[in-house]
Amino acid sequence: MVCSLLDMFNIRFLLVCLILSANALSFAAAHSDSTGKSLSGFDTLEALYKGNERFKGVGSRKREAVSRLVEESTPSFMFLGCTDNRLTPASIFQSPIGSIISQNNIGNQYSKTDVSTDAAITYAIQELGVQHIIVLGHYGCPGVSKAITAPREDNPVMKWISPIVRLYKTTRRREIVKFRDSRMPHRGLPDGNKSAPSADEAGFRSLVEENVKRTVKALKEESILAKEYQRGAKTTPKESVEVYVHGFVFDEATGNVVNLNVSFGPPGFPIPSVPFGAVAAAKNFHREKHFPGFNKGKNL
Ligand SMILES: [Zn+2]
Repeated sequence: MVCSLLDMFNIRFLLVCLILSANALSFAAAHSDSTGKSLSGFDTLEALYKGNERFKGVGSRKREAVSRLVEESTPSFMFLGCTDNRLTPASIFQSPIGSIISQNNIGNQYSKTDVSTDAAITYAIQELGVQHIIVLGHYGCPGVSKAITAPREDNPVMKWISPIVRLYKTTRRREIVKFRDSRMPHRGLPDGNKSAPSADEAGFRSLVEENVKRTVKALKEESILAKEYQRGAKTTPKESVEVYVHGFVFDEATGNVVNLNVSFGPPGFPIPSVPFGAVAAAKNFHREKHFPGFNKGKNL
């Protein structure tokens, strides 16, 4: 609807329009009825085709301008998010086209043995020059929920989320311990509570947060950043890549993005202030305990 007025406006409006359209579609796509069928009607290949026709319809001159903008822009942000977060970072942060890149997997995880994510992060740092890597979890994450219910299934999904299952079983964070205990087998419930938790359960929310922290920690210790920081620390600060990593969680119910206060950066560089509100529980995170040598330029 708004797009039909495109010819009257400049390229900036085109960008906003495209983003809003994408947002509307992604928001609608996040809502489905109990059969799983999309309520937006955007559920056929025909819908994809028509969407592309609308995109092409904005006019070649403006489309070329968008392409040029994408080619010429340098993305400052890389998001390491979850496959099943239906609202993309572009929607959540209303980012201009071409300004961010994303890598997704179930439960927004990082491991040096995952070549795909490792390659994407290395590429983002070395080739694209991103400045911030943001691990973006989301409350109500189905991947984390599955790690809680942990069905006895032998498949790639369970294999992939096994680190989250381990985190759930071993973490000592108070909210999760309480939540875990409440779901244990007991009289009247001999198999324990196997139902999917509600997105607003404190224990579930805490596990989503702890899982993001785990990913941030793994990036610090295992990714190319560990080597790059060490190299910078051994030479001059200028030799180090100036890339910062942050842990955020998105709350679909409110639109809020919360900061887990676990950001780190190259030794000797102050961490840029993060304007998002920090969750209360994140204050319990002891940076030095989790990241020995944090920001001190030694023994990383
Ligand atoms: Zn998820």
